[in-house]
Amino acid sequence: MAADEQLSLAQHLPPDMRCLGVISGKGGVGKSLVAALLAVAFARKGLSVGILDADVTGPSIPRMFGVRRAVSSDSERLAPALTRDLGIRIMSLNLLMENEDDPVVWRGPLVAKTVEQFVTDVDWSGVRYLFIDLPPGTSDVPLTVMQRLPLNGMVVVSSPQELVGMIVRKAIKMGTLMKVPIIGIVENLTHIMCPECGARIELFGPCPGSNAARADGLPVLASIPVDPALSVLCDKGGIESYANNPFDGLVDLVAAALNGHGARS
Ligand code: ADP
Ligand code: MG
Repeated sequence: MAADEQLSLAQHLPPDMRCLGVISGKGGVGKSLVAALLAVAFARKGLSVGILDADVTGPSIPRMFGVRRAVSSDSERLAPALTRDLGIRIMSLNLLMENEDDPVVWRGPLVAKTVEQFVTDVDWSGVRYLFIDLPPGTSDVPLTVMQRLPLNGMVVVSSPQELVGMIVRKAIKMGTLMKVPIIGIVENLTHIMCPECGARIELFGPCPGSNAARADGLPVLASIPVDPALSVLCDKGGIESYANNPFDGLVDLVAAALNGHGARS
């Protein structure tokens, strides 16, 4: 495929926009959570942020932020929904559905086409950093996003089980194959802090994600503990108010990688 064809969707996005994909290969490891917390950390720094929910059949982002509908726009393009506290712009198929729990029973190509339309038919003007929450797997949508969107980098999410580590490595290899710079790994659900004595308990033992990261020379950006408060905020649409955001201190590093400084070549 020719390079201009690969990047043909870039022309629909603001020229100075930087795009970060959040991928794993595996479902339920915290991709949406990481995409959401990264976006919140960037927005808290005063940066203009959007989230493109590319998990068309399993969208979690609207619920995490407590947004329900996309607003109609003056222009021909659809305006993203705005989050309550930080004004993060969100587009997700669930913002266009009558009921949050209506299923999307579509074949892969139509799902991938929808993600393309979230680029071509949505007004992302003014957004400097776009976070793309990817579905599990390494097929239609991740392929479309890696081939046709101007990704400046990816963050790979893993959880501490050997099986997950194996599947996460597939996503890492896919990124390498598609020449998308991988900024680093985020380990999720690594440990829990005992509320009684404060001891750190590694729930599943050492995280194989770290092994995968080490093998590929990738940095581990953060290790996120199991935090029941976080889970409650996700369910209630209050993720913007989470106090212990592990990415608060990593915005400069991730932004520099997306802007081409320090990104892994
Ligand atoms: P994925 O996008 O990979 O399928 P999610 O980010 O939607 O996974 O996470 C699945 C669920 O697990 C979410 O409802 C979220 O609230 C919960 N969860 C994920 N990570 C944590 C964590 N570190 N602490 C508490 N709950 C978590
Ligand atoms: Mg998800």
